[in-house]
Amino acid sequence: MESKLQVYNTLSGNKEVFKPIAEGRIGMYVCGPTVYSDVHLGNCRTFISFDMIYRYLLYSGYKVRYVRNITDAGHLEESLSGKGKLDQLEPMEIVQKYTVGFHDIMGLFNAHPPTIEPTATGHIIEQIEITKNILSKGLAYESNGSVYFDVEKYNEQENYGELSGRKIEDLISGTRDLDGQDEKKSPLDFALWKKASPQHIMRWPSPWGDGFPGWHLECTAMSTKYLGENFDIHGGGMDLKFPHHECEVAQGTAANGKKPVNYWLHTNMLTLNGQKMSKSTGNTILPYELFTGDNNFMDKAYHPMVVRFFMMQAHYRSVLDFSSQALSAAEKGYNRLMTAVADLESLNTAENSSEDVQALVNSFYNAMDDDFNTSILIANLFEAATYINKVKSGQGTITKEDLETLKTKMHGFVFDVLGVNAIQEGANDKLDVAMEIILEVRKNAREQKDWNTSDLIRDKLNEAGISVKDGAEGTSWSIN
Ligand code: AMP
Ligand code: ZN
Repeated sequence: MESKLQVYNTLSGNKEVFKPIAEGRIGMYVCGPTVYSDVHLGNCRTFISFDMIYRYLLYSGYKVRYVRNITDAGHLEESLSGKGKLDQLEPMEIVQKYTVGFHDIMGLFNAHPPTIEPTATGHIIEQIEITKNILSKGLAYESNGSVYFDVEKYNEQENYGELSGRKIEDLISGTRDLDGQDEKKSPLDFALWKKASPQHIMRWPSPWGDGFPGWHLECTAMSTKYLGENFDIHGGGMDLKFPHHECEVAQGTAANGKKPVNYWLHTNMLTLNGQKMSKSTGNTILPYELFTGDNNFMDKAYHPMVVRFFMMQAHYRSVLDFSSQALSAAEKGYNRLMTAVADLESLNTAENSSEDVQALVNSFYNAMDDDFNTSILIANLFEAATYINKVKSGQGTITKEDLETLKTKMHGFVFDVLGVNAIQEGANDKLDVAMEIILEVRKNAREQKDWNTSDLIRDKLNEAGISVKDGAEGTSWSIN
């Protein structure tokens, strides 16, 4: 299989021709969500970016094993008061709630599920085995019921920092004394296994006593188990490069004597008001807040397909800032592209084509082969849309064969690769018309300062599960 695909590999800092270990097959691991709270739109951007990458690999004819984990082994603590079982915090109930929520959201964004979705708690035995293995190599040590990776010892033979480009001397001088570090030989050492305090509710027996695995270890355990000691692609958000992925490289190398990953792919951040969207700072927007319009950021609701298109308009390695204006522009672009795709069904054909359709189609492939450049792909799809409009208005021509080619490839790149579908409105057509009438009546009431009527309409609709939102660009509605 001849691949022209080039990917930017964090490991080398360059775009490289992509060559899988086994011909025609790819193993890809992506760090999944921590399921202790709702995923925010920033998390979604990373997962949607990898969904697009997965889709293009499939579209290129590869067979892909795509593993994305669920981080469900966390640090929940509870006081030891003698409460009944059902009053106690049950971590798996929290895990289930947010895992289901995550799947629902990814479904709305039209993301494919991974081919394997393993959980950290389901792989405790594997994590204990790797810890034992690294201990036996002399690259970890036990201290007070915990086991730490010996970074400086590892660095005598290997290069800790090879992925993130950090220098161990800088890291050492940059670390301050933090709590609990007295157990460690060096502040750089990270836990493979942590002793559980009495309050810690997620705990497992181990050769070192009751405890729980260090966060970095789960990804090494699950990627090795399902993809092997050396596999093709590992992905995650840019913010995971250090320490999480650096530690994964060290753990894999220490345990198996080989580098775990050939291509490290990192997606850039979604920002809100110029700041990284982040759970810890509260600078977040949740997907549902956007789909319902129930938020303080936007003046109307947006369909998940429009949000996905908005994300696809940026290259995955560029920062993307979220704003009302940008989303509203994306909606116009989305509508324009979808109209062009729909128009392909009713174009007249001619003896000649007024444009070079093969060159257009090649430009779609070239964009995606250049490190999955969806931004350029969409610009090229808009060129195709302009051509379609010309044919539609009689200012251009297209042959039957070219029309078939353009249709197949536009469907392929829009629906299969970008993963944006047409918004299915058929069943709701009548509701749309009815809502338009109701909102017109309400607008008239407002113009006459008849607030009783306008509020009554809004409140009754709300009771019926339809929310109405007044914004700068007029009134919008959405189903709750
Ligand atoms: P977490 O659940 O915190 O482990 O995050 C899940 C994924 O979301 C990781 O790959 C993070 O790198 C990614 N992520 C977190 N914040 C953002 C953001 N603002 N933009 C894009 N990706 C993010
Ligand atoms: Zn991970």
